[in-house]
Amino acid sequence: MRKVGIIGAGQMGSGIAQTVAQHGIEVVLADVELSVAEKARAGIDRTLRKLVDKGKIEGAEADAALGRITPVADYQPMADAELIIEAATEREEIKRAIFEAAGEILGQDAILASNTSSIPITRMANWSPDPARFIGLHFFNPVPVMGLIEVIPGLATSDETTARTRAFAERLGKEVVLSQDEPGFVVNRILLPMLNEAVFVLGQGTASIEDIDKGCRLGLNHPMGPLQLADFVGLDTCFEIIQVLHKTTGDPKYRPAPLLVKYVEAGWLGRKTGRGFYDYSGEEPAPTR
Ligand code: NAD
Repeated sequence: MRKVGIIGAGQMGSGIAQTVAQHGIEVVLADVELSVAEKARAGIDRTLRKLVDKGKIEGAEADAALGRITPVADYQPMADAELIIEAATEREEIKRAIFEAAGEILGQDAILASNTSSIPITRMANWSPDPARFIGLHFFNPVPVMGLIEVIPGLATSDETTARTRAFAERLGKEVVLSQDEPGFVVNRILLPMLNEAVFVLGQGTASIEDIDKGCRLGLNHPMGPLQLADFVGLDTCFEIIQVLHKTTGDPKYRPAPLLVKYVEAGWLGRKTGRGFYDYSGEEPAPTR
């Protein structure tokens, strides 16, 4: 693999771009506007510098990785990419428009992949030029740190596409879990009901933010409590995923916690907006309730 296109330069797109570039592959990084993609590249630069300061990578390695990332506003520079990864906002209409536009320039053998957390791969494949070359490639946050990638073939995905995608994930030094195209795949199907339940527990006044998180850290040996993790994922993303689980299964156990809906409506989306269940403006995250 020589060149990869990434569409969506938010938390995930940036992390994917950094990881791919650090593994010697050229990256074309697109967002709605060039300035957003450029800002993402500047953020990756800061992250790489921190790694250099901590002695984890050499300065030359950071320079080379950054030099492999080209921010763009249109997809034409991805026309010769072997793989295009969509990592844009978790909304069907946004992803559909992206796949239709990317389909116009997608190379004859190139694979189109989605980093969706919850939208069915088989449905999205129909918005691409060739469902046999469409696949789910689900990274975890923060991408450079997390060791797992879920690979999710849709009904029409060819075995060759699955094998090539798995080889790409392994080239990034990640372990692969293969999941069938079922709502939430493997990890989010288990995780999101837990995060949502933690918000119910908070909303019902059963315990404080700190105690809910402490309970899961110490009682379950989780490295991070569920409310802090929800802030890391992004509360809008959590809301979208739990809604997809609810709609696609029809099972009321997946209904979103009312307090989660309120936080999203308030624009308190977690770490990325500086406030969610915790306030991130100070040195240490401070609980907000
Ligand atoms: P984010 O809000 O940080 O970033 C989304 C980016 O997509 C934004 O920069 C936005 O401007 C861009 N975008 C929106 N419409 C676009 C368009 N038409 N063309 C190009 N770019 C567009 O969100 P995120 O957390 O990076 O999530 C992105 C995707 O990754 C979602 O599908 C999400 O479900 C999935 N995902 C998220 C996590 C997580 O922990 N946050 C983990 C795995 C997968």
